[in-house]
Amino acid sequence: MDVTVIGGGIAGLALAHQLAPDHDVTVLEASPGPRGGGYMIDFFGPGFVAAERMGIIDELRARGHVYEGVRYGTPDGAESGRIDVRPLAAALGGRYFSILRPEVELGLLAVLPRSVDLRYGARAVAVRDIGLQGGGSPRGALVELADGTSIASDLVVACDGVRSPVRERVAPGHGEIVPMGYRVASYLYPDPELAGELGERMLMTDTVGRVGWAYAAGDGRVGAMFAERTDVASTERPVPDRERLQRDFAGLHPQVDRTLENAPESFYDDLAAQAIAPRWSRGRVALAGDAAHAPSLLAGQGTSLAIAGAEALARSLRAAGPHVEVGLVEYERRWRPTAERVQRAGRRSASFFAPATRLQLRLQQIARRAVMLPGAGLFAARSVLGH
Ligand SMILES: Cc1cc2nc3c(=O)[nH]c(=O)nc-3n(C[C@H](O)[C@H](O)[C@H](O)COP(=O)(O)OP(=O)(O)OC[C@H]3O[C@@H](n4cnc5c(N)ncnc54)[C@H](O)[C@@H]3O)c2cc1C
Repeated sequence: MDVTVIGGGIAGLALAHQLAPDHDVTVLEASPGPRGGGYMIDFFGPGFVAAERMGIIDELRARGHVYEGVRYGTPDGAESGRIDVRPLAAALGGRYFSILRPEVELGLLAVLPRSVDLRYGARAVAVRDIGLQGGGSPRGALVELADGTSIASDLVVACDGVRSPVRERVAPGHGEIVPMGYRVASYLYPDPELAGELGERMLMTDTVGRVGWAYAAGDGRVGAMFAERTDVASTERPVPDRERLQRDFAGLHPQVDRTLENAPESFYDDLAAQAIAPRWSRGRVALAGDAAHAPSLLAGQGTSLAIAGAEALARSLRAAGPHVEVGLVEYERRWRPTAERVQRAGRRSASFFAPATRLQLRLQQIARRAVMLPGAGLFAARSVLGH
């Protein structure tokens, strides 16, 4: 059948990879090329297992890295604690690495079958049902593009991210994101000297209300990330403002201050948010990845879920053959429990992602010591995985 995928990010490319052997797949991506905006993600969990099944894990692993761990730092530059990643990675059977989000996208592009019609600069603006069958269910869907053209297909899958407008159409009343109470900014910039100083450990500030990260991101680049608590009532996307960022996050740690001095004019800046939809398909329009079940970066598994969810959808469609609706129901039945479990874990971690008070900070410091006790690695890994 003809399948149109809206969004050529992680979920969209993973889905296209899996559907291409059986279907004619078109991917519409609004950006003019692969999106460069980068932050480091931890890759483990269901997406890792799915990537193994898809035969793409070596491609992704070759682009990733296993850090020694995290180093905590206070505003005076002192080290206040450490967490080693290797015991966690070992507890996960080695199924863990860190990778820049753009590298996941480039890795998926490198293995994308040639038959996929990937169109950059193609923004979808509307989706409509076409051809009602007996009983009123549609036979396909039409995607209208910003350039005035449209594409009719047997199935449309929206992989257009957490702010997907298609979600409202599939699950009315659930189009809005669900903010988790944090605003997050991140960017990459070249700084070989600081990258050398940061070495094999990510730096995270041990601070109240606002937290900064700095890490060596390969090729002499440094990655910076900033999180602050915000009001959960607002869902509007914030406008990146370099001066505001530099002002509000100054003084967390000398090395983080250096990354602020080098903040670019444009950078990633958004609310950490989930997408909650009680249904993931309606007629011949389905949702996948963050559009369906964004867990927010607090769960640290959005990319993993995006890949695993796309693979689960492709598998269910393959098993259902011509019975597309059956495949869509099966996708949800099999995949929703895992996606919701990770979302719950994300919500649980919201209260301690950036400590709100000195007391919370102190409790976290004590908990960190417990993680470093022998034998605690597996426990910590389990709690990361939400088991
Ligand atoms: C700072 C930060 C840190 C994170 N850390 C982690 C982590 O440690 N581990 C982890 O697993 N995940 C992490 N995540 C989450 C992860 O990045 C996302 O969950 C994941 O990228 C979701 O993939 P997706 O393909 O569903 O959506 P996206 O990656 O958002 O892709 C959606 C795509 O759709 C395109 N698009 C949107 N609208 C349209 C349209 N109308 N027409 C055509 N194309 C359109 C966009 O341009 C984009 O390319 C983090 C996220 C952030 C912001």
